[in-house]
Amino acid sequence: MIYRISYNTIEYLISFLAVITLLAAGCTKKSDFSIALDDSYNDPDPAAEVTILDPGVALTFDDASIDEWIEMLPILNKYNARVTFFISLYYPKYDPNCKNKVMTLYNAGNEIGIHTLNHPHLSTYLEKHSLNEYYNNEILPEVRFFNSLGINPGSFAYPYGEYNPKANRFLSQYFNKIRCIYGNPDINKVKKVIGASEIFSSTLKDYKEEILYAKLNSSIWVLVEHKPVQNVSGNDYFTFSLLDSICNFVSRQNMRFYCLREIDTAILEKQRIKD
Ligand SMILES: [Zn+2]
Repeated sequence: MIYRISYNTIEYLISFLAVITLLAAGCTKKSDFSIALDDSYNDPDPAAEVTILDPGVALTFDDASIDEWIEMLPILNKYNARVTFFISLYYPKYDPNCKNKVMTLYNAGNEIGIHTLNHPHLSTYLEKHSLNEYYNNEILPEVRFFNSLGINPGSFAYPYGEYNPKANRFLSQYFNKIRCIYGNPDINKVKKVIGASEIFSSTLKDYKEEILYAKLNSSIWVLVEHKPVQNVSGNDYFTFSLLDSICNFVSRQNMRFYCLREIDTAILEKQRIKD
């Protein structure tokens, strides 16, 4: 706990390094950061240790490829996998039929999260606007839209994975889980702000490593994906068959699939069993 004294400085450094690394990597390599993003939400209760979690995988999908996501449902159902969809309603463009489609995803047991209305870069946005404006213009309209469907989103994901500690603290007033990219998926230490991995590979082996690491460490690995495709081409590497293979591998490891909203519940359940 001593290191928390200077953690703000560390956080800013990490933010800076994360952006530099992202730029240097040219979006071709997965993250290997191993430092918690935001220590301010650490659970002070030592009962919240790594051993209390059922290891698992949380698949998250960003933006608005709702048609393709609906196409994924039979694969997810085959493995009883529920995932989190972070929807950006106007990015890349608004789908007038999205209400019914969102309900299809939601009624299948998946979580619907907020990914901002227009998908702006956080740092660029904050050059001319406040965090309050970010919330009022980019988040609140989405929350209202989903509320009108009977959905109450409790999770948020930053567009482009960009974040800063101030925004994390501000948004933690409104969300139970805030997903970043290029952070440590150490869910056992960080209660609200979760780091996730983005793997630019169509090879199952690259995903297996992360899944097995989570299993060995009794943790939950959070993966970020976007639009599944039938065949690998250009930057589209995440195929439906790769999704099937990943789910199959996770199931064979007797690991759980998590929506982000389920993570805290899982911890509590295990704590109760322990008592
Ligand atoms: Zn996005």
